[in-house]
Formats: sequence, structure tokens, C-alpha cells
Amino acid sequence: MSRTYQQTISEPISFSGIGLHTGRNANITIHPAAAGTGFIFKRIDPKGLGTEITASWQHTKELPLCTCIANKNGVQVRTIEHLMAAFYACEIDNALIEIDSSEIPILDGSALPFVTKLDQINIIQQDLPQRTIQILKSIEARDGKRFIKIEPAHNLTIDLTISLAKIGKLNWQGSADPATIKQHIIPARTFGRLKNGIIAKIATRFMRDPICLGANTKTALVIIGNKVINKGGLRMPDEFIRHRILDAVGDMMLAGANIKGKITGNSTAHRLNHLLLKILFSDHKAWRWENNDE
Ligand SMILES: [Zn+2]
Repeated sequence: MSRTYQQTISEPISFSGIGLHTGRNANITIHPAAAGTGFIFKRIDPKGLGTEITASWQHTKELPLCTCIANKNGVQVRTIEHLMAAFYACEIDNALIEIDSSEIPILDGSALPFVTKLDQINIIQQDLPQRTIQILKSIEARDGKRFIKIEPAHNLTIDLTISLAKIGKLNWQGSADPATIKQHIIPARTFGRLKNGIIAKIATRFMRDPICLGANTKTALVIIGNKVINKGGLRMPDEFIRHRILDAVGDMMLAGANIKGKITGNSTAHRLNHLLLKILFSDHKAWRWENNDE
């Protein structure tokens, strides 16, 4: 079931914490926004020059292991995907996100801290109908065995598979309505191998866009061999694949509206998710708007 009207939050809420990749602290405040706004990220630190960037497939900058949006001058906001998935799960269509750094706090590596706090404030209905994007034909983004595909369907469903060394093949499939995503997907944390994290930290420490500098057992699931070394272990046995679903849900929010379609994929990555949207929107016969009040 789709909602008839767009929604925003009733009051501002704030989060603080380090970024997964920069390792730097950031403070963000999420404000209500007018119907039709979508999601605007605004840099409020001196370096960010007050830049506003709309969360859209048109503004992605390809960086490893995250979804980054940037303007023409290279002012950017990284790792927006978990917050975007939280907006989807909480059925929020419009918000202004102020940030005093270049990366959204990773918090515990999942979207649960965002959703927990968003659930404590009121969500208010606005005066414009919610629009959805209806898929009219099959579209695919592929890179060897990696692919993500979207096909026509009445509702959003997702079916993703990953194969992890020493762990094996994991699959999650199901309805991706907001309630299901909130219950089953939002708590799943990001993950990586300890070895790869150490290599990335050393290799990228002094680069403009470093990787994994903020990665540790408080911000991610850390894998050695076939086990995680985090205290308490996994939140669910298939937490890794559920996190990939979380990333896909967050990335599909860059479409600018909720999508109705059947998504399938293997070893998806943020880059392929962005590419899928680029291919989709470059073909005007592949989709159409649907006003939910019609
Ligand atoms: Zn993620």
C-alpha cells in the first residue's frame, strides 16, 4: 500500500559521531522540509561554503564503499545511504539535513540509531500527493557476475545474493515495504574483513578521500576467517546480506521517489545501484510517474 500524501518530520533532530571513511566527527541536524523538496544535504562548516546538494542519482560521485553526493566544485557528503534507508523505513519524503563535515556519522554501522530517534518524533502529513515511480520494462546494470536488475511489479520487492569467502552464499528476498524494512533490515550493520580494513587505513590515510579510517568493532562488523570479532556477535544469522538490502534501499531513494518494481541482484555494490538508476532514467519508456491520489 502506498501513502496518499507526502510526509516530513514535526521537529528537528540531531546526531553526532565519526564517519566510517573519514574517521572525523560530524554533527547533523535533520529539519522538516516543504512538500516536493525531497532530501537536501547542506554543508554548514566553513569548508562546505553552505553548499546544498539534493540526494539524487544525478549528483553521485563514485567513491569506494559508500554513496557520495557532490556538487560541481567537489563539495561532497559521503555515506548518506543508511540515513536514506531510515527515511524510507520511517516514511519520510522531505527533509533538510545540515552537516558540519563531509560524512554522515556511521553510528553503529546500521540505520537503527536513526530510526529509533525518528520514531520518537511525529511524522506529519503534507499537502502534496506522494508520487511513485512505476517501472515499465526490465533494466539491468552489470559488471561481470555482479548485477542489479529492476522489472515491473505492483510493489517494491528485493532479492539479493552475495558470496563471501569462507562464509558462503547468502540470500534475502521479500517485500521491501517500509514496515518490513524497518523490522528486518534496518538493524543490519555494515561489515568488512579486518585485513582489508587495515590495508585500506594504511593505503588511504593521507588521500583526499580516505577509506575505513573510522572502521572498528563499534562502527562495523569486523570479520576474521568465517567469524565476526564483535562482542555479542551477529544480530541475525544473515546480517551481512540484510545490510546489502539496506544499502540498496538507501540507494534507490536517490530516484527521488519510492519505486514500484522487482529488484534482483548478485554481489551488488553502490556503484551498480547508481548505474541502474542512471540507465533507468535515461530511457523514458522504462518508467512513469504515478500520483498516489489518482
Ligand atoms: Zn552500508
